[in-house]
Amino acid sequence: MKKKAVFLDRDGTINRDVGYPRSFHSIEVFSYSFEAVRKLNEAGLLTVIVTNQSGIGRGLIQEKALRDIHQRLEASFAQHHAHFDGIYYCPHYLFSPDPEYRDDCQCRKPNPGMALKAVKDLNIDTKKSYMVGDKVEDILFGLNIQARPILCLTGFGQESLPKLKEKGVELAYVAKTLLDAVDWILQEEKNDSPDQT
Ligand SMILES: [Mg+2]
Ligand SMILES: [Zn+2]
Repeated sequence: MKKKAVFLDRDGTINRDVGYPRSFHSIEVFSYSFEAVRKLNEAGLLTVIVTNQSGIGRGLIQEKALRDIHQRLEASFAQHHAHFDGIYYCPHYLFSPDPEYRDDCQCRKPNPGMALKAVKDLNIDTKKSYMVGDKVEDILFGLNIQARPILCLTGFGQESLPKLKEKGVELAYVAKTLLDAVDWILQEEKNDSPDQT
């Protein structure tokens, strides 16, 4: 059977958005994020990071350094008994000086490429899944893959909300934080469950 997933943006959703962090030392995980991810793990929902990292294409951070950040991020979540089922990133930048990363790609959110890869790797039903993020492109990505889009008011969330309203985008939920988003998702899942009387 196909699985449900919660796709998560990284910067501004799981950790503070500081622009282009070059090492794990610049990553400040929001204190509630560990609990949020652990709750998703315990509920049996796949937890998948999808992050645009054009800092690679821009030459601001090396791909190796990004993978190191993600390894350390996973280790810090493991200490809190939480894990990610997948971490996907888009390294591309349309005007990259490096031809390897100069691409008008299908994986940069709002394009669906990272989700399509995760669907293959992890056997996900995106229509029964959720996307949580703080930027307009996160929400449009969620809509592109037919997942339920949840805006998080951390990061750029406050700026994104009026932009989304202007576009007439319908959000499944507006969450104060990632933890609030997760609590809402788990309530929705409870309501959907056929076992409930
Ligand atoms: Mg973000
Ligand atoms: Zn890409």
